[in-house]
Amino acid sequence: MAYNSANIEEFHDIWVFCEQRDGKLQNTDFELISEARKLADQRGSKLVGVLLGDHVEGIAKELGGYGADKVIVCDDPSLKVYTTDAYAKVLCDVVMDKKPEVLLIGATTIGRDLGPRCAGRLHTGLTADCTHLDIDMNTYVQFLRDASTIDVDSQNFDMADTNLKMTRPAFGGHLMATIICPRFRPCMSTVRPGVMKKAEFDQAKADACEVEMYPVHISADDLKTKVLEVVKSTKKTVDLVGADIIVAVGMGISKDVEKGKKLAEELAEALGGGVVAGSRPTIENGWLTEDRQVGQTGKTVHPKIYVALGISGAIQHKAGMQDSDLIIAVNSNSAAPIFEVADYGIVGDLFDVVPKMISAINEAKTAE
Ligand code: FAD
Repeated sequence: MAYNSANIEEFHDIWVFCEQRDGKLQNTDFELISEARKLADQRGSKLVGVLLGDHVEGIAKELGGYGADKVIVCDDPSLKVYTTDAYAKVLCDVVMDKKPEVLLIGATTIGRDLGPRCAGRLHTGLTADCTHLDIDMNTYVQFLRDASTIDVDSQNFDMADTNLKMTRPAFGGHLMATIICPRFRPCMSTVRPGVMKKAEFDQAKADACEVEMYPVHISADDLKTKVLEVVKSTKKTVDLVGADIIVAVGMGISKDVEKGKKLAEELAEALGGGVVAGSRPTIENGWLTEDRQVGQTGKTVHPKIYVALGISGAIQHKAGMQDSDLIIAVNSNSAAPIFEVADYGIVGDLFDVVPKMISAINEAKTAE
């Protein structure tokens, strides 16, 4: 039967495209599988990972440990290194054949390239860069209650709605928009790395995960590009998304930038091997490299400890850090919005406060 994305009753199951690089699964895969597990449970459907690559069968079961019931593996030498042509062809083939209801892709550089290409070919909608997903209406209404200013009780929701509700920041982060794709399937979404929380790995579930090898049909005509060589950037980038401790600086370090950065590094070190990050203007001013930006247009982080030094707490900054386990803010202005999300707030000049924090931490360590 021909593929028709409008025959929505033919589509079942929640799928996650699982990205591998050099045969290694990415953290985003585990985050998405963990989140999609909840969606599959809400929908009462199966959770399936789709893994493309060359000799990648051996890593498939690991996805089961985070919640996948099954992993479909497309294994072919043409899929060893990512190319838009080969990956889009193979992913669309398997989607057209098996018809998933939902297809989630990490909003990584590869996902941002692959997702729209597939959505175009599959004639369906894609919501890019989502930060929240729901299927069940009760869960969605609760989300609105907790995270929005909508008067939920005066709304007339269709509680039987089973569309994927895809929420993302819009208009520069000033509002959140929930988007649905009611007439076509699969509902496609790219999801911001670092936003969804990874579940605990469960070896028994990994062992029980079903792996299906799916035949790859790819011809020379399908491939318009050829990878001659992969040259990796020699620039060492910092892993903010995976960091447990982050000390971030903002424009509050302006009066002595070098000293401000040094204090942040020393505080990060004292707290136990933390990394230094910054608000957007500190990156725009060239004080810190781009990979260190936290916020809506930077990284979304949720470390165990996030220290904000001289950061006002604009909505676009908070969007990237407000889910941190513990937030400590130092700001000379007691009305700074960062204090609204801080667990501990210190009103004062960071150049006076931070040296005191470092000494107190070091003293506490020696006293142990
Ligand atoms: P400021 O707002 O200038 O705040 C500096 C703070 O330092 C003030 O609160 C001040 O009281 C305090 N201060 C000054 N001196 C001291 C001192 N000596 N000791 C202690 N405190 C002191 N921003 C991001 O961070 N990340 C993003 O991803 C991002 N994306 C954006 C996307 C869009 C579409 C737009 C429109 C904006 C975006 N922004 C982003 C910018 C954002 O709106 C703010 O302008 C920015 O976060 C402000 O940075 P800041 O807090 O460092 O600076």
